[in-house]
Amino acid sequence: MTEFSLELNEDQLQIQKWVHDFAENVVRPVAHEYDEREETPWPVIEQAAEVGLYSFDFVANAFGDPTGILLPLVMEEMAWGDAGIGLAIFGTTLGVAGIFANGTPEQVMEWVPQCFRGENDKINLAAFAVSEPDAGSDVSSLRTTAVYDEAKDEWVLNGTKTWITNGGIADIHVVVASVDRDLGSRGQASFIVPPGTPGLSQGQKFKKMGIRASHTAEVVLDDVRVPGRCLLGGKEKLDEKLARVREGKSAGRSQAAMATFESSRPAVGAQALGIARAAYEFSLEYAKERKQFGRAIIENQSIAFMLADMKTEIDAARLLVWRAAWMGRTGKVFENGEGSMSKLKAGRVAVWVTERAIQILGGYGYVREYPVERWHRDSKIYDIFEGTEQIQQLVISRAISGVHIK
Ligand SMILES: Cc1cc2nc3c(=O)[nH]c(=O)nc-3n(C[C@H](O)[C@H](O)[C@H](O)COP(=O)(O)OP(=O)(O)OC[C@H]3O[C@@H](n4cnc5c(N)ncnc54)[C@H](O)[C@@H]3O)c2cc1C
Repeated sequence: MTEFSLELNEDQLQIQKWVHDFAENVVRPVAHEYDEREETPWPVIEQAAEVGLYSFDFVANAFGDPTGILLPLVMEEMAWGDAGIGLAIFGTTLGVAGIFANGTPEQVMEWVPQCFRGENDKINLAAFAVSEPDAGSDVSSLRTTAVYDEAKDEWVLNGTKTWITNGGIADIHVVVASVDRDLGSRGQASFIVPPGTPGLSQGQKFKKMGIRASHTAEVVLDDVRVPGRCLLGGKEKLDEKLARVREGKSAGRSQAAMATFESSRPAVGAQALGIARAAYEFSLEYAKERKQFGRAIIENQSIAFMLADMKTEIDAARLLVWRAAWMGRTGKVFENGEGSMSKLKAGRVAVWVTERAIQILGGYGYVREYPVERWHRDSKIYDIFEGTEQIQQLVISRAISGVHIK
C-alpha cells in the first residue's frame, strides 16, 4: 500500500525548478513589454521550443506523470513568470486536451505532435474552438454546423467561433460543431482543421484587460472542408452515439466539449495560483521594506494578517488543485465536482490575493511601473474562461445534491 504523501518526487522537483528558471530568466523580464504591446511573444515561444519546454515530448511527459501533479506544477511556475506569456506558450494544450479527450489513439498519435511542430520543423500552435457569440456558458446551443458529404468523405464546417485562444494564428484548430442541432450538446462532435485548410480565417482580435500576450480572436469557418478522418473519435462512434441519443438513451461519456473542460480545469486553476503566488511574494517583500511611521509596514498586524490570509488561501487552493489533478490522472470519479472546485477556488483566490497585493503596495500597486496591477488584471480571466465561477458552482451543486439546479 502506498503511504499518503504530499512530498514531490525528485523528477517533479527538478522539472519544477527548470520551468521556474525559464519563467524567471526568460518570461518575467519581458512580461511588462508584451502586456503593453499586446502581441504574441514569438521569440519567447521559440526559446521555449528550443529548450524543449514547448514540445510534444515535454507536454506528453507532464500529462503522463502518474501522480497527475506535474502538469499543475508546470502551469503554476509558468504563470508565476507571466500568465499571458504562459498561455501563449501553453494555449496549445487546450487543443491537445481536446484531441486526447475525444480522439482515437491513432488520431492522438497523428495530430498531437503536429500541434507543436509542423513541416520542416516549423513551430506550430493549436487552438480549441468551442465558444460562439451566442453560446458561451451554454455550449449546448452551438450554431456552428458540421455536415457530412458522403460522396467525398468530407465534413463541411460553417459558423463563427469567438474568444478563441490562438484563434486564427494556430496551425491546428480543434473545432466543436453541431452535427444535429436538435440534440443540443449530445449532437456535437469535435473536428481537426489541419494547417492551411481553406475557408478558416481569423475575425477580430480582441483587446483585453489582462493576459494580453495571449492572442484571443474570432475564428470564421466558411465552408471549411476536412477529410472524414478529421472527425475525432471516428464516424462509427459518432453514428452509434447519435442513434443512442435519438432512441432516448444516454449519450455516454463523450459530450465533446464537457469532456475536455473536465480534464483541464485543475491545470487552469494552477495558472491562477501562479499569479497569486507572484503577487503574494512581491507584496511580502515590499511590506518588509516599505517604512511608514518609522517602521516596516509589515509590523502592523493589519498588513501582516493580510499576508497570512493570502498565504493560507493560496495553499488551500493548491491542495484542491493537486487533489483534482491526482483524481483525474488516477481515474477517480469526480463525485463532488472536485475539478470544478479546484478552478473555482483558485480563480477567486487569485483575484482576491492580487487585489490585496495592490492594497499592500498602496499607490505603487496601482501604477504600471510595478507588476502588481498587471497581476490583478491577469487574474480576473480565471473567474471567466474554462467555465465561469457560476458554471463551476453549478457543476458542484448538481454533483453534491443530485438535483438539476438551474
Ligand atoms: C481571454 C479569453 C480566452 C478564451 N479562450 C477560449 C478558447 O480558447 N476556446 C473557447 O472555446 N472559448 C474561450 N473563451 C471563452 C470562455 O470560455 C467564455 O467566455 C466563457 O465560457 C463564458 O461565456 P460568455 O463569455 O459567453 O459568458 P456568458 O455565458 O454569457 O455568461 C455571462 C454571465 O452569466 C453567468 N451565467 C451564464 N449561465 C448561467 C447559469 N446557468 N447560471 C448562473 N449564471 C450563469 C456567467 O457565469 C457569467 O457571469 C475565452 C474567453 C476569454 C475572455
